[in-house]
Amino acid sequence: MDLDALTPAQRRVVDELMDWPNRSVRPRFEPDLALQLRDALEEALGPLADQLNRGELYVSKKKLGQVLACEAHHVAAEEAGFGGWSPRAARGTVAHKAIELSMHMPAAATPLALVDAAVERLVADADDDEWGPGRYLAAADAVERAELRAEVNDIVVKFEECFPRLDPEWRPRTESVARVDLCDDRIVLSGKVDLALGRATGTEARVLVVDLKTGAPWPSHLDDLRFYALVHTMRTGVPPFRVASYYLDSCGFRAEHVTVELLLTTAVGRVVEGVRRMVELHLKQREPTLTPGPACGWCPRREACDGPALWAAERAARGLDPFD
Ligand code: SF4
Repeated sequence: MDLDALTPAQRRVVDELMDWPNRSVRPRFEPDLALQLRDALEEALGPLADQLNRGELYVSKKKLGQVLACEAHHVAAEEAGFGGWSPRAARGTVAHKAIELSMHMPAAATPLALVDAAVERLVADADDDEWGPGRYLAAADAVERAELRAEVNDIVVKFEECFPRLDPEWRPRTESVARVDLCDDRIVLSGKVDLALGRATGTEARVLVVDLKTGAPWPSHLDDLRFYALVHTMRTGVPPFRVASYYLDSCGFRAEHVTVELLLTTAVGRVVEGVRRMVELHLKQREPTLTPGPACGWCPRREACDGPALWAAERAARGLDPFD
């Protein structure tokens, strides 16, 4: 890599986010760590799983975050289901595809050319990926496509400004899905990572997991990263050496080194608590609790719930900015 050719923002990604100067020194973990994590999860979740059929509970980063933030929000979102594709819903998938294609196209390919190629590829894959945005993209009208094109172009340009050109030697992958089946396949943990770089060598952790974000940092982003780290470790047997949220609007990041304690205590404990709530609500064993908070802003129940007003009052009482 020609370090002198990098912009200061790209250099920061290489030196600080990827920790390139220390790439020969990465942590090693016990070979049975994934087994320890599975044992801890299955011991705690076993009695809950006994109430479920195979494949009945699907736990994603989003669902876990929802149920731990406000149970009523989680229940409402489950009832509403997927609201369908829109430019906003599709932009992440298209952007990640464009970033993936950037590795295989000439360096001179413009972000818009990458975006158009990504849309073309997703449309072509529509029959093989019925849950993807391909069919929506094929049927979208000119205005929707133009809106999507502009939004994704902005993301890809920012990515190019912030990140060095991805080297195939780093084994970059985007939208990489990891899945863990627990308790006789009754509970499934699933995570889709925006960008992962590197691969483990033996029990040496050499993978960097990056969640690409537009907008401002939220405390819950760290919880999401820990969930990714847990699922990644259980799938491959070796943790990522680091997980990070990268904020494209500010060229900044928040990163955390992955440790055994982080996985066995913090990440496992959060999954156990979230799954407990999800099972109780899914089986209608009790009513969901209401917890006003930032999620009121995008909750399906916000028109009929007192939560937004309560949250606004609490923000005012705490002297918080309306956008905090
Ligand atoms: S509006 Fe707020 S308090 Fe009400 S259900 Fe949604 S997130 Fe919970």
